[in-house]
Amino acid sequence: MAEAEALHPEEQLGKAYDARLMARLWVYVRPYRRWFWLAVASLPATSVAMLVRPYLLKVGIDRYVARGDVRGLRILALAYLGAMVAEFAFFYLQYALTMSVALRSLADLRRDLFTHVQRLPLSFFDRNPVGRVVTRLTTDVDVISEMFAAGALTILMDAVMLLGIMGIMFAIDVRLALVTLSLVPLMILAINFFRVKARDNYRRIRERVARINAYLQEAISGMRVIQLFAREEHAFRTFDRFNDAHRRAYHLSNVYEAALFSLAETVSSASMALVLAYGGSRILGGALALGTLVAFFEYIQRFFVPIRDFSTKYAVMQSAMAAAERVFQLLDTPAEPRGGKARSGVGRAGSVEFDRVWFAYRGDEYVLRDVSFRVEPGETVALVGPTGAGKSTVIKLLARFYEVPRGTIRVEGRALADWDTEALRRRIGVVFQDVFLFAGTVAENIALGRRDLGPAEVAAAARRVRADRFIERLPGGYEELVRERGYNFSTGQRQLIAFARALAYDPEILVLDEATASVDPETEHLVQEALRELFRNRTAIVIAHRLSTVESADRILVLHRGRIRESGTHQELLEARGLYYRLYQLQFSAPPERRAAAAAR
Ligand code: ADP
Repeated sequence: MAEAEALHPEEQLGKAYDARLMARLWVYVRPYRRWFWLAVASLPATSVAMLVRPYLLKVGIDRYVARGDVRGLRILALAYLGAMVAEFAFFYLQYALTMSVALRSLADLRRDLFTHVQRLPLSFFDRNPVGRVVTRLTTDVDVISEMFAAGALTILMDAVMLLGIMGIMFAIDVRLALVTLSLVPLMILAINFFRVKARDNYRRIRERVARINAYLQEAISGMRVIQLFAREEHAFRTFDRFNDAHRRAYHLSNVYEAALFSLAETVSSASMALVLAYGGSRILGGALALGTLVAFFEYIQRFFVPIRDFSTKYAVMQSAMAAAERVFQLLDTPAEPRGGKARSGVGRAGSVEFDRVWFAYRGDEYVLRDVSFRVEPGETVALVGPTGAGKSTVIKLLARFYEVPRGTIRVEGRALADWDTEALRRRIGVVFQDVFLFAGTVAENIALGRRDLGPAEVAAAARRVRADRFIERLPGGYEELVRERGYNFSTGQRQLIAFARALAYDPEILVLDEATASVDPETEHLVQEALRELFRNRTAIVIAHRLSTVESADRILVLHRGRIRESGTHQELLEARGLYYRLYQLQFSAPPERRAAAAAR
């Protein structure tokens, strides 16, 4: 069975650094590695320019101010300015380059993801809600990019800088350094506490965001039903609850962050007070130079910033790794098998055969059981049966949306598995019941996927299925824009466009799920004529909902609970007085209300 794995849920968090994931991300950074390394190289330059400044202050105060050396002071001031300009320049370079590399690599990653998603088997989409797949391509990739934006990659660099500051402090004055660092253990404890809290809370936020997304998706796509049944109030309350829960979790994370930030500020100020008290008394005693004290103040401020940011960066790294894990899981989901290499059949063009086919969407809940039938070239076969009998499954298998675990389907004498999928789908035109129109013009929707079709061919296809008249009456004609999946067209019109689309391909075999929705008599007439045109000179397998279709079919197959129970022409089956006879009475000749009752059964 094509058991495509379900995607990871959102809330798992793992390591903050995962070499394997990093190596995979590197594949995307690699094309831009020159810029990347340039950015990396400007990091230490930024740090050096930053660390040198307090030291310059110290030298300025202790050496030049003390001696009244104005010329020396000017030079030093220039050096200070130079260090500052260098720091900003290097920082700018580093940030701009990092983001440019990040955005380019992640755009490449998105492109790969989309290409991959397009090749996933339909069973994957059965198992994974659309919202989750969309999240992988949007939010998750953004979360990875945050790793670059938040400077999380520089955590190591931060550590080096901390060591650097400590080294300088100890080199200047050991005792003052010890006093300065006396409160650091407290800070580390606090950070650890908040890190664990923030991590738990992060998981909660993700869960709640996922819940909101899932709910919104359902509510918005089901808006018609919500409005029809006046469920707005109920839907609003549910949403409000989810929204509120999300706000609370988010707020909590802000509370933690604010607490951590103010704590860092307090500890840094307290350290300064300690240094002032201790260092000040030593200055008074003549044991310490004023410049040293000033330099310490400067270093303290620079020291607590990376410590404070550490927990944020850690959290960003952690979520980026989790996001990367999810993204790569999607990328690792096996794509639809490309099938064999055969680009043509070995048997008669247009023939189709099901040979003892079994199929289950899940486990061993078979929805097709030992289904065998043959369709000769040019023949029109109607599939009928109650709802859930397996009719749509037959056509989905024929279009190779799912792999067949038992039995064989042959198209033109060749097993589906041996066909090149693309070549196969060129030979089989499929029209589904719910016609999907894409954003674009009517002409583009008809020519779908066939770049070689010019306006003349598109118009010819439309003419053959009688779609030309309504299209030409549109204000924009063939250039009329399709809005939001074609809601500006009636069901009948959408169907005619779909017919034109199938015909533009001129497929050998046509597979069609007739729409159940009734259309106005005029369109109904057009649709019937269009169908006749579609069925002419090609093999057709139709899930029939119209009396005219079953009557004119060469053969009718009656499916019931995944088995073919009867087969014959309309007349033969009526005379047999079996399943078809009952179905005919319910479905095809009864007034609409009885049909609805039958369908509900
Ligand atoms: P019909 O077209 O005759 O109404 P289908 O072929 O759509 O019947 O469905 C046959 C059975 O397969 C039904 O019981 C249906 O619930 C099940 N089924 C259809 N599509 C899926 C799917 N994507 N995942 C799981 N079960 C499905």
